[in-house]
Amino acid sequence: MITPQHIEQYKKLKTPFYHYNLDVLEQTLDLLTAESNRYGYHIHYALKANVNDAVLTAIKNRQIGADCVSGNEVNKALETGFAANNIVFAGVGKTDDEINFALDKDIFCFNCESLPEMEVINELAEKKNKVAHIALRINPNINAKTHHYITTGLEENKFGINMWEMADVIHAIKSLSHIKLVGLHFHIGSQITDLEIFRSLCLRINEIQEWFYQHHIIVEHINVGGGLGVDYENPDSNLIPDFKGYFEQFHQFLALRPQQHLHFELGRSIVAQCGNLITKVLYVKKGVNTNFAIVDAGMTDLLRPALYQATHKIENLTTKSTELERYDVVGPICESSDCFAKSLLFPVTQRGDIIAIRTAGAYGEVMASNYNLRTTIASYVF
Ligand SMILES: *Cc1c(COP(=O)(O)O)cnc(C)c1O
Repeated sequence: MITPQHIEQYKKLKTPFYHYNLDVLEQTLDLLTAESNRYGYHIHYALKANVNDAVLTAIKNRQIGADCVSGNEVNKALETGFAANNIVFAGVGKTDDEINFALDKDIFCFNCESLPEMEVINELAEKKNKVAHIALRINPNINAKTHHYITTGLEENKFGINMWEMADVIHAIKSLSHIKLVGLHFHIGSQITDLEIFRSLCLRINEIQEWFYQHHIIVEHINVGGGLGVDYENPDSNLIPDFKGYFEQFHQFLALRPQQHLHFELGRSIVAQCGNLITKVLYVKKGVNTNFAIVDAGMTDLLRPALYQATHKIENLTTKSTELERYDVVGPICESSDCFAKSLLFPVTQRGDIIAIRTAGAYGEVMASNYNLRTTIASYVF
């Protein structure tokens, strides 16, 4: 929600910048915690989506855990005040330094993606006289039907362990005395808007749990990852994701064993809608089929359109015109993919107009770069 008061503030600030709306974040957290508490589910926030301090603190204050994919993220989570015993650590390429750091901090669980990784964790834990708690990240071979760059649960993806190698893996880890298997972990992709896909994941996990049961293994927890999508087209009418429907799928279709805990790792669905990238029109250039609205933000500030062909809703916050024309909304970077929208039907736009690129709270600021020696942009929370 962008209010007239916000627009007055925007006019006083140097563009481009990120604006995080804490009211929207708190509303999102209200629904998230109400719906997950209904079933006693455990939520970990995926830090990689957004690491703004005020955003992290608001999330931490809800007793939510952290999901980290690097040693520095583990460190950031601890500095913010997330409890160590509520931190999970995933990633296909954990370095020895990162593993040692997480071992020293006694995190809740390493989500392991290969047997060689488990051997290294075992060896490093042994040197510290510790037993590391691990979950196996399993590749369930489920198609998340999202952009192929953010699909992670197919056999062709680099993530996780495939079921056809599982017998060998569990045989091998029996001899590793400094790791303890406590969980099974899944994460099939991101920006999943069709809840049926989570139902398929549940049914597949039920089969996988049955396989483990046959092999006399019942783990303490199941972690189903994240991936719940948000509405990039209608941020105002669909501001808060459907957490109710999402958790209902797991409650209905996932067969947990008695005493088994269910964990989630949500990133995008928590923070996407609270963030907007605010930019200004530098020039309007006439094109052949469409005009170009050249704005002062670029792919260095928000990479998603260039990286995943993602679309964000774009609004002209200051134009008085009601007449529409076609525009490509583009940034200043020397790449043709530096384009936020193609042939967009948009109110007549002029130099100096303030533009909002909506739903930019997740995978926005965290992916910024200094390509073209661009300056890192500011972010404001109000
Ligand atoms: C990125 C990631 C998440 C969060 O995904 P969202 O789509 O942002 O909810 C969760 N778990 C793992 C392992 C991840 O890599």
